[in-house]
Amino acid sequence: MRPATIQVRAPLSARLASRPNSMRYQQKESQRESLRSGAFSPRQATQRKPLVAYAETANAFLGAIDDLIHARPAGKLKTAVITGASSGLGLNTAKALIDSGKWHVVMAVRNPEKAKLAATQMGFPKDRYSIMPLELESFESVRSFSKKLKATRNVDTLICNAALYLPAHQNPRYTNDGYEVSQQVNHLSHFLLVNELLPHVKRSKDPRIIIVGSITGNTNTVGGGAVWPWADLGKLNGLAEATDKGPAMMNGGTWNGAKAYKDSKLANMMTILEADRRFHDKTGVTFSTMYPGCIAETGLFRDKKPWFRKLFPLFMRYVTGGYVSESEAGERLAEVAMSDRCKKSGVYWGWNGAAKTVAYLKPGLDANSRGLTGAGGAGGSIEELPLSVEARDPEKARRLWELSAKAVGLPYDSNYVSPLHETAAEIAAKNGPKSLPGIPLPSFVPDSRGQLDKRAKEGTSSQFQGGRL
Ligand code: NDP
Repeated sequence: MRPATIQVRAPLSARLASRPNSMRYQQKESQRESLRSGAFSPRQATQRKPLVAYAETANAFLGAIDDLIHARPAGKLKTAVITGASSGLGLNTAKALIDSGKWHVVMAVRNPEKAKLAATQMGFPKDRYSIMPLELESFESVRSFSKKLKATRNVDTLICNAALYLPAHQNPRYTNDGYEVSQQVNHLSHFLLVNELLPHVKRSKDPRIIIVGSITGNTNTVGGGAVWPWADLGKLNGLAEATDKGPAMMNGGTWNGAKAYKDSKLANMMTILEADRRFHDKTGVTFSTMYPGCIAETGLFRDKKPWFRKLFPLFMRYVTGGYVSESEAGERLAEVAMSDRCKKSGVYWGWNGAAKTVAYLKPGLDANSRGLTGAGGAGGSIEELPLSVEARDPEKARRLWELSAKAVGLPYDSNYVSPLHETAAEIAAKNGPKSLPGIPLPSFVPDSRGQLDKRAKEGTSSQFQGGRL
């Protein structure tokens, strides 16, 4: 059955305008001109006001009808699922999507009460969002969340955004599933969620899956390559040897909370590239990752000392220029979710904003052609950015995928999951001493920290040679 259409008669002014030579049109035009030019006396103008008011009301009425005809009914809104939508980037992305008028957002959160309060404070209309509990510390929660979601609504876009950063933790904390908590929340549970929802999301006309990445997991940047510790998954032997509360770090090295976060962000970006290789052609799903800029005030830094949380935003805003507000970062992630440009799959998106020193290094062997290109500071426009050699390594990504599948209880290829041999230098590197860049190490300690320029030349931090980088 064809949908009913509403026939609306055009307003008098429009009908007359289609006949500009008619006498009636000429008369009206001269009246309008007299009104505009003030040629009528105030009394005459008052007498003619009802006519003008009539035209305005009619136009407003027609505009409202037009809106009604063209508005997408609530049932036809696109649906985005955002993990960790109760604060920071996730919440502000939900806002940007909802404000566009085209989206319903499922806020997938560990604390529904907090999400409800945040949604109310943000002024989200009630029919534009729903809240569903999701505890990423538990694979069981991911599975039951996915089951409920699939039973209740279609999903166009999945945004894996939630994360934990535990730089001050002196010892690792483990989940009930037996994995280090930031490894599970940031990487493994999102990996499981992507696998659970992929068959569902692919039914959309414009299906997209996004995992938020970071400059910190990308060692070809100043932010990721010069600020110690560096992301480096090594041979992934930690994940391969994982037992209940087994090695905390994915490379099997000594515990370092900041590195665990950076490694998990590297794993997030590698997961997107590997998913693109495995599934984009078959399913049409767009797989993307992105760096939103340094959103220095979010809850991500809750593990840091109060003085750091006060000074860090100022440092990022006024010294490095890498600072971006929560709302701007939310608009950026929403852009990746909805813009036509971001339909391209397998891309790491960034914004060449106001960053001054925390910037990407243009790769290239020629010193003159290398340089800083900015890294997400406020403003600027979206661009495709290069990932580090390690992030782009397809063999390592395949091993990461199979090991992650094994960890979360999905089918896996057993050729990729055994621990691999490591040289003495590789073992020394992953258990390297904790010291700061710029401070020389005693000569008897192998220097696993490297030089930024050398890293830029090689494009990676993970090329360990003979005990020194
Ligand atoms: P927030 O801490 O504000 O947001 C993180 C979200 O993750 C929160 O909503 C939090 O829930 C949720 N979360 C944490 N643990 C769990 C869990 N176990 N189960 C479910 N949800 C959980 O930080 P940001 O907004 O800054 O971080 C969002 C993303 O942006 C992360 O992926 C981060 O890596 C990335 N990013 C952030 C940058 C920054 O400068 N801030 C820079 C680059 C990337 P709750 O509200 O209950 O705490």
